[in-house]
Amino acid sequence: MPSTLLEKVWNAHTVRKLPNGQTQLFVGLHLVHEVTSPQAFDMLAARGWRVRFPDRTVATVDHIVPTRDQRRPFFDAMAEEMLVALERNCRAHGIRLFDLSSGRQGIVHVIGPELGLTQPGMTIACGDSHTSTHGAFGAVAFGIGTSQVRDVLASQCLALDPLKVRKIDVGGSLQPGVYAKDLILEIIRRLGVNGGAGYAYEYTGEAIARMTMDERMTICNMSIEGGARVGYVNPDDTTFAYLRERPSAPPEADFDRAVEWWRGMRSDPDAAYDDEVTLDGASVRPTVTWGINPGQSIYVDERLPRPDEVPPQGRAALEEALAFMGWRAGEPIQGTKIDVAFLGSCTNGRLSDLREAARIVRGRQVATHVRALVVPGSQAIRIAAEREGLDRVFSEAGFEWRGAGCSMCLAMNPDRLEGREVCASSSNRNFKGRQGSPSGRTLLMSPAMVAAAAVAGEVVDVRGIATNAR
Ligand code: SF4
Repeated sequence: MPSTLLEKVWNAHTVRKLPNGQTQLFVGLHLVHEVTSPQAFDMLAARGWRVRFPDRTVATVDHIVPTRDQRRPFFDAMAEEMLVALERNCRAHGIRLFDLSSGRQGIVHVIGPELGLTQPGMTIACGDSHTSTHGAFGAVAFGIGTSQVRDVLASQCLALDPLKVRKIDVGGSLQPGVYAKDLILEIIRRLGVNGGAGYAYEYTGEAIARMTMDERMTICNMSIEGGARVGYVNPDDTTFAYLRERPSAPPEADFDRAVEWWRGMRSDPDAAYDDEVTLDGASVRPTVTWGINPGQSIYVDERLPRPDEVPPQGRAALEEALAFMGWRAGEPIQGTKIDVAFLGSCTNGRLSDLREAARIVRGRQVATHVRALVVPGSQAIRIAAEREGLDRVFSEAGFEWRGAGCSMCLAMNPDRLEGREVCASSSNRNFKGRQGSPSGRTLLMSPAMVAAAAVAGEVVDVRGIATNAR
């Protein structure tokens, strides 16, 4: 039977069908961080259980670590306590931990691929919603809650409902100044923030095939913001080239054999899908969110929607978002003053993102009223960026150059919005309060657009700032 990648990976990892219709699925790789694991480890300890497969479990510290001063003990007692707990649990169970002294620490969805831990055909779980990132490699990757973290620690398995597959075919090529972030925001805008409920999203087509792994990770990362449980791209030569010589990838002698198996996991050309959607990548323009969910976005040269332009069932959400943001329907988004610019997160904190933002920033200054920070996704990215002199480009322009971590993506550390501040952010969520202030306002956009907004002091169209922005 012709099958999709989802079906092949799912079947290969099925332990058994449960009486309630769920599948008991074996998890090939469990990624753990300091925030969603302490309680799960405590639940294990209370029952006297051990971690079932410590060699399939890898930990890092990212969510709560400070990015300005990373000396231990941390100033924040809770952050220190969480790190101590993770260190203790990893020692007790023989789990590999990439801590601040490892030189490989970083956001869990950045270091997994970077280390070559993330591979095609795997099942991956992590106590963070944006685990879908790993689908860029042709893995089936789930974000899970704390009780499921406990289940995976104890059994290496998850009980999951079956998923349907929606094929999202993106033809053409993205125009200069338009990035993977713009494309995924466009997909979410069109299909809705709940449009993916019950689905895995399979991204395919010419525009996806042309993308680097970093770009594919940005796309898959935000699948969850469109309601999809997982998102993935079929592995191809770009995937294999990225993985070759990564520390945890198969060694050279076995690599070609691994590639053969990985290729076999691709969706068959005549596989059946539960739904199919097509988009023209060339028609996408730089995109900015204006509201309180990632589906509330417009092209940078558009105006905010008016209640009479949306179907009756969407009006209450639109009015709530406009009221929270304090903006009037019909206003242009361009020219909106910003207070903070944040470059980072597992969506857009990779080296290619920093390079692209640096191209905009080079030789320019951050607007005097803007607080701007760059938070590399991992220590390895920070080191690589410093080798290229990107830290100097950002610092000379007036950005703060920070240590690796989640930072202002969810503001569990001192990197937070204050009051009603407006933040141009390369992260993935613009929910109320997401960046630390209950009344703070987040505008999601590509890293290049964040850089452009930082220097202009307001939302601008990156296509007008730097010609040939790609
Ligand atoms: S950067 Fe944000 S979305 Fe990504 S792992 Fe950290 S908190 Fe989660």
